[in-house]
Amino acid sequence: MAETTSVPPPASDLSKMAHSEVHYFNSYNHHGIHEEMLKDEVRTKSYRDAIYQNKHLFKDKVVLDVGCGTSILSMFAVKAGAKHVIGVDMSTIIEKAREVVAVNGMSDKITLLQGKMEEVTLPFPEVDIIISEWMGYFLLYESMMDTVLWARDKYLKKGGLIFPDKATIFMAGIEDGEYKDEKIGFWDNVYGFDYSPLKATALSEPLVDTVEMKAVVTDPVAVVTFDLNTVRVEDLAFHSPFELVARRDDFVHALISWFDIEFAACHKPIRFSTGPHTKYTHWKQTVFYIKDVLTVEQGEKVVGWLTSKPNEKNRRDLDIKIEYTFETEDPTRKTTGECTYTMC
Ligand code: SAH
Repeated sequence: MAETTSVPPPASDLSKMAHSEVHYFNSYNHHGIHEEMLKDEVRTKSYRDAIYQNKHLFKDKVVLDVGCGTSILSMFAVKAGAKHVIGVDMSTIIEKAREVVAVNGMSDKITLLQGKMEEVTLPFPEVDIIISEWMGYFLLYESMMDTVLWARDKYLKKGGLIFPDKATIFMAGIEDGEYKDEKIGFWDNVYGFDYSPLKATALSEPLVDTVEMKAVVTDPVAVVTFDLNTVRVEDLAFHSPFELVARRDDFVHALISWFDIEFAACHKPIRFSTGPHTKYTHWKQTVFYIKDVLTVEQGEKVVGWLTSKPNEKNRRDLDIKIEYTFETEDPTRKTTGECTYTMC
C-alpha cells in the first residue's frame, strides 16, 4: 500500500474571517508574490547573512518563523544549526513549503503549521528565537508587525532574540514636478472639464514608486524607530516630528518615506535600507504628494509632524497625516499645509 502523509487541516477557518483578512491571506497564496520577495536580494540576503553569520546564536535553538511563506527563513535557520524550526502561515503557499522542505531533506527539522499565528497551537511552549519578514510598504502597511509582537509576548523565552529587531522610518523632500503634473495636475482640466473631486482622491493616495537620488532635495531624517524587543502594538500608531533641511535651491513637490531594518541581535549587526540612495528593493519608496509646491533655498527647513495609525474599519490599512510648515524669512514663500492619506 502506498504510504500517505497526512496533512493536518488548517487551524484557522477562512469562512469565519473578515473579508479584508481573507483577501490579505489569499494575496499570499500565489507563488508570484513569493517569487518577488525571494528575488529581492537585498531583503533575502540580509536575512541569510544575519542567520548564517550567527550560527553560535542559532545552534541547538528552537526557532519560530512567523509567516514562513515558502519556508526560506526556516531553512536558513536549520542550516545555521537550529534544533527545530516551527513555520506558521495562513496562506496555502505553506503546502508548497512542505514540499520544498521535504525535497531539501529538512522535514524532521521543520514543522509547518497552516493557520493564523494567533490561532495555531505550537508544539513547543516557548521558543528561543523569532524570525520573521513582516515589513510592508511604508514599513507598517499590512500591520503584520502586530502578529510578530503577539508571538513575542506569547512564545518568546525571556532573553530570546528577534530577527530583525529594529526598524526606522525615514523621510525626505523631493522635486517631482513632471510626474506630479501627470498624476495630480491632470485632474485640473480633463478635456476642458474641472475634475478636481478626483484630484483630492489622487492626492490622498500615497504612491509606491522608485525615486531617483537626484530628485531628493533635502537631507533625509529618521522620524521614528521601533525596537521589536520592547515596542507595544499601540506604539505603532505614532505622531512624530520631522525637520527637513534643503540641500540646494529647488522645489519640493512631495515628501517621501522609506525604512531601514537592522538585525541588532547579531554578533556584528546587519542592516539594510529601502531608501533612494541604495539598491532597489520591492518596497521601493512611498511618495506623498503635498498640495503646495515649496520653493526652497539651501539651508531652509520644512518642519512638521508625521502621524500614522491603523484605519478603524480595516486595521491593515493606514491613515497617515503630514502637517508641514515651510520655514523661511521670506513671507511670500512661507507655507503651512496639512495632507491626509489612506494607504489601502
Ligand atoms: N517568510 C517568507 C514570507 C514573508 S511574507 C519570506 O521571507 O519569503 C509574509 C507571510 O506571512 C505571508 O505568507 C502571509 O501569509 C503570512 N502571514 C501574515 N500574517 C500572518 C498571520 N497572522 N498568521 C499566519 N501567517 C501570516
